[in-house]
Amino acid sequence: MRLSTELKLPAVSLTGFETPMGEEELAIQASVHRFAKEVLRPIGQELDKMTPEQVIAPGSPYYTVFAEAARLGLDPGLLAQLPPDMAVRVESLIGEEMGWGDAGLAISLAAASFPLEMAKAVGNQELVDLCTGKIGCWMITHPDKGSDVTMYDIRRDWTPGAQGNKGNMLATVGKDEIVINGQCSAWVSNGAVAQVALGYLGADYGDGFFDADGRPHGLAAIIPLDLPGVSRGKPLDKLGQRSLPQGEIYFDNVRIPRRFAVALQDSYYGNHTSAWSYAGTHMSQTFTGVARAAFELALQYCHERKQGGQLLINHQLTRHRIGDMLRRVELCRAVARRSLAYARLTPQGHAYATASAKVTVTQEAWQVVNEAFQLFGGAATSREYPIEKLLRDARVTLIEDGENNVLTMRLGLLAQQLHAEGWGQG
Ligand SMILES: Cc1cc2nc3c(=O)[nH]c(=O)nc-3n(C[C@H](O)[C@H](O)[C@H](O)COP(=O)(O)OP(=O)(O)OC[C@H]3O[C@@H](n4cnc5c(N)ncnc54)[C@H](O)[C@@H]3O)c2cc1C
Repeated sequence: MRLSTELKLPAVSLTGFETPMGEEELAIQASVHRFAKEVLRPIGQELDKMTPEQVIAPGSPYYTVFAEAARLGLDPGLLAQLPPDMAVRVESLIGEEMGWGDAGLAISLAAASFPLEMAKAVGNQELVDLCTGKIGCWMITHPDKGSDVTMYDIRRDWTPGAQGNKGNMLATVGKDEIVINGQCSAWVSNGAVAQVALGYLGADYGDGFFDADGRPHGLAAIIPLDLPGVSRGKPLDKLGQRSLPQGEIYFDNVRIPRRFAVALQDSYYGNHTSAWSYAGTHMSQTFTGVARAAFELALQYCHERKQGGQLLINHQLTRHRIGDMLRRVELCRAVARRSLAYARLTPQGHAYATASAKVTVTQEAWQVVNEAFQLFGGAATSREYPIEKLLRDARVTLIEDGENNVLTMRLGLLAQQLHAEGWGQG
């Protein structure tokens, strides 16, 4: 037991009841917080009020974010240089601050580097060079293939005897060249502005699009988006995360060299689960930050607004509601970090395991933001206060990166699969 000799308030940091941090961690947290406060939050609020066309127009403050992020000077190799446990905490600290600043921009920055991170992970220097300095995106959903992208187990998770869903973005894979036709969904983050994509496509390697079980063959590739045959749809006008430009990308006989593939037939689903797990870890950190932002706004408001003859914070009922929000923010952080540690440190992660945290964090974040909104009373509904934007941003995330009911259903499927291997049987 660690004894205290005096009754004092507990140690807290920006990230709540945190174990002591080293100087380097504190410095990184402070500089990312400054970036979140001075760049992401004000620009996110400005973009939120603009049309999707204005958000992506040349000269838009959206592009300032990328220039300022580069100036922030975070070494892209930083995490690889740190001891693994510290790297997890630092990655989590950075992700939470970004989300605290603005969810849409946090997602946009993460999606922007997705193709580059994949190029590094497969160790392909040509693709690293191709992706460096560019705004990227991750095209995994297609118009007719939303929740179905998270289907891995065709025998347990699909209509018996039916072929799987190959989607609408298809590749014909030749000896030296890949030809791409079709389109990704309108929901692709950065789809309206990206210069390079990490794409997941249905693929024909010469014997059709399906294996003997009816599971679609796939291809993952880095695709430059300035090639002949690439075109865009209108940027998506949506409820929340309006600072994140989304939109369709169309492919009409677009040709890329086969060496741009990052996963062919046999390695496709393994690569797919890694990429999706990587995305899920970002979601959890980001929406821990959103939950914290809503909690802080509510705490502040309760110190300003008087009803019942007292400041709201002096009512027992309100303290209970604040306490409930605080414990949920702590829950988000704990789950987000555990899942991040699992994804980065275990040799055998899985997207459904990461999705478990994505669901918990986003559901809890939604609860916190919704309660903060309620605490603001009528003022919450006014665009003058920032809480209504957080509500819209948080609502969207219950669907983003996998709809939460579907993800939970697939977590149950994972339990079934593991049980079949002997897990949980005493
Ligand atoms: C803000 C945002 C950002 C996004 N970013 C990206 C991105 O960067 N890249 C990308 O590729 N995509 C992205 N998406 C797409 C996102 O992954 C999909 O929206 C999500 O997976 C759900 O797919 P869907 O919208 O087609 O819904 P659907 O799959 O059509 O689901 C509709 C409803 O049907 C239910 N349902 C679906 N399948 C089943 C089933 N088997 N059994 C029972 N019920 C079912 C679901 O629960 C849901 O309520 C983004 C979406 C949002 C909102």
